[in-house]
Amino acid sequence: MEFQRIILVHYHEIGLKGRNRGVFEKRLQKNLEALLGAYPIVTIHRISGRLLVFLREGTSLEVANECADAILGVPGVARVSCGFKCEQEMEAMGRAACIALAEAEPFQTFKVSARRNHTTFPIDSMQLNRDIGAVLCEEFPAKNVQMKDQDVTVGVEVVEGSTYVYARSIRGIGGLPVGSSGTVVALLSSGIDSPVALWRMARRGAVCVGVHFSGRPQTSDASEFLVDDIARVLERTGCIARVYVVPFGDYQREISLACPPGLRVILYRRLMFKVAEEIARRERAGALVTGESLGQVASQTLDNIRATDAAVAMPVLRPLIGSDKLEIIDAAQRLGTFEISSMDAPDCCTLFMPRNPETHAKLADVEAAEAAYPMGEWVQALADAAEPRDYACPAYRPPRKTGAR
Ligand code: ATP
Ligand code: MG
Repeated sequence: MEFQRIILVHYHEIGLKGRNRGVFEKRLQKNLEALLGAYPIVTIHRISGRLLVFLREGTSLEVANECADAILGVPGVARVSCGFKCEQEMEAMGRAACIALAEAEPFQTFKVSARRNHTTFPIDSMQLNRDIGAVLCEEFPAKNVQMKDQDVTVGVEVVEGSTYVYARSIRGIGGLPVGSSGTVVALLSSGIDSPVALWRMARRGAVCVGVHFSGRPQTSDASEFLVDDIARVLERTGCIARVYVVPFGDYQREISLACPPGLRVILYRRLMFKVAEEIARRERAGALVTGESLGQVASQTLDNIRATDAAVAMPVLRPLIGSDKLEIIDAAQRLGTFEISSMDAPDCCTLFMPRNPETHAKLADVEAAEAAYPMGEWVQALADAAEPRDYACPAYRPPRKTGAR
């Protein structure tokens, strides 16, 4: 191959961040550098509003496409374009454009969109569009130039002594680079909803630490394996930093023995929230996250949401509160967690469930029932017993001391 392969990473929202722009760009650059270790990358540069990934000499189209696909899912990436680096010289640019366009098959219509960042290059972008367009028309006589709604846009960017030419271009997931919006602690079950909720927060730039409540020792540890599998999917795009597994079964049993059956679930959930909040404090996180969606199950009525929220001082974010189950399933399928979440594993949710859970719990009744238990002690004991497991999240810095270890 005559030309070095490159991948252009376009961002959108980070580009809008005014004076902070450099910080966001560097964060995305570092995240990509760490996440793409398996690909033959020479270096990643920042050039005028984009990141440029230089692939090693001789990288195949297939490997370049795999690398581009890996970049697409990383938060902060709005678009990924595959192409070549070439000289600032018309003939080379024309040849590179021909190869790039051929690799964008199948398509019928195209146009050229040139950008010239340095006016030292004598040909302006309008003229570049015409000249490269003419070369492509000759090379692809069966294709048509179309200025609107074209299938493929051939990008030609004349920047800092080189030219970058690309055609195949795919939309990324957008959002902000992980590490640019603080840290959150997400309650992560092995169900369908909570991995999607966590991922949505990661896409908005939050470093996500999961907390999973296992029914152990009252149940098997099957749900813990599912949560680990889910975390490994999220890890591919740097969306999860760490998961704490909390053995919760004995505490649920204690609650179930004396609490009015209708309030059990709310007491379980309040204890979960308190433990998650304590872990969040230790992790210096700013909020809790759940996968709740209004009205989906008994514990997700407004009254019960209020009764659980009142257990903690930290904000509880619910990115799925207005989503339909089918939308959440679609999102889980795209994310790649749906199949894992569809597997059956007893977790603490299936344990000691009452026949008729209260759907309109009154806070005073809940607090009265809870007064029978040494909640403060339990919270510390459970947070100390939480077992952390780390995943690859380049932006994450673990706290110096995380409970008893
Ligand atoms: P999911 O699909 O996320 O399990 P769900 O529809 O099953 O949600 P619930 O079981 O009521 O609904 O759980 C609501 C939220 O509470 C979950 O989205 C999750 O954030 C949290 N949660 C529930 N069970 C656990 C658990 N075992 N460990 C950690 N968090 C949990
Ligand atoms: Mg669940």
